[in-house]
Amino acid sequence: PFFKEYLPYNVTNSVDLAAKLNANENPYGPSPMAVEALQKVAYKGNRYAWQELFDLMDKIAKYEGLESKNIIMGPGSSDILEKTAMVFFKDGGNVVSADPSYMSLIKVAQATGGTWKAIPLKDDWSHDLDAMEKAIDADTKLVYICNPNNPTGTITDSKKLMDFCSRVSEKVPVFVDEAYLGFLEDGHKVHSMAPLVKEGKNVIVARTFSKIHGMAGLRVGYGLATPETLARIEKITRGGMGISFTSIFAALASMDDIEFQKKSRDLNTASRKYVFEALKEMGHKPVESYTSFMIFPIEMEGKAFLEKMTAEKVGVRAFEFMDKTWCRVSMGTMDEMKLFTAALDKVLV
Ligand code: PLP
Repeated sequence: PFFKEYLPYNVTNSVDLAAKLNANENPYGPSPMAVEALQKVAYKGNRYAWQELFDLMDKIAKYEGLESKNIIMGPGSSDILEKTAMVFFKDGGNVVSADPSYMSLIKVAQATGGTWKAIPLKDDWSHDLDAMEKAIDADTKLVYICNPNNPTGTITDSKKLMDFCSRVSEKVPVFVDEAYLGFLEDGHKVHSMAPLVKEGKNVIVARTFSKIHGMAGLRVGYGLATPETLARIEKITRGGMGISFTSIFAALASMDDIEFQKKSRDLNTASRKYVFEALKEMGHKPVESYTSFMIFPIEMEGKAFLEKMTAEKVGVRAFEFMDKTWCRVSMGTMDEMKLFTAALDKVLV
């Protein structure tokens, strides 16, 4: 029942691609203010960050309406996902999450000794919250929810999710991965589960500077949770110790560059609209996306498809779930999206 990824995609990382649309990277980043800040502090690379990291945590706390005791930093949110899995599944147990979903936490849970209780998404692509709640048993150590979800790009209603998290977290901790929240208009205000952390609920929220801030290669992410939960995770990580001095300054500056974030969001929406319409015109059935990527079913074996797209110098991803093979394409610049549709036209004849 579990979904599967076709994996020669990493081959494309070593190819000189004309359009790299395989890793949900933001083609416009980092923000000019972040680059300037980074350049200015490059010479301080001989020092460990200390107060500088606390400054960033204070700034994030203010932005989230929380306190710095609610924040754990990491080199990307991957670090928070993986370390949480290591701590929560060291004595076994299961993680309840959607299928398909983002696999980072789930894979580490499995490698650590846990099992995955996979609950299919509903027909409207939202999380099946009722089925997930029913799936929780005495062995469930964590519920993982990626909203908006990857690899589908789809969303679960925030009010329903808030009720779910609020209720379920009384029984078992809920981890909400909000990597793509920034691409939603008012995403942070309307869709975030961070307010539950303020209420003291056992909810862990993960966020990243990799997506809307365009800093995937600079590696800054963070988690929000109660001090008690953070103390558990901090037993195996010093969190911010993995972040470079310069990246801290890039993150501080990027948070102030509201204009860059708006530009990223607007251009992403424009690329998404173009791709959605172009795919429909070509006879495909794209799934409406709320993120910086989109999926649609293809009538070709996944590996062959990836090889052919790579030969056209376009990098994408291919998955198998719900008895279909899917292409996942990240939103690049409009020029890159036109290269993508042209390549697709050639490959899928
Ligand atoms: N969560 C989701 C849903 C993602 O798609 C990604 C990256 O693609 C991550 C987390 C991890 O990103 P990072 O470690 O760069 O913060």
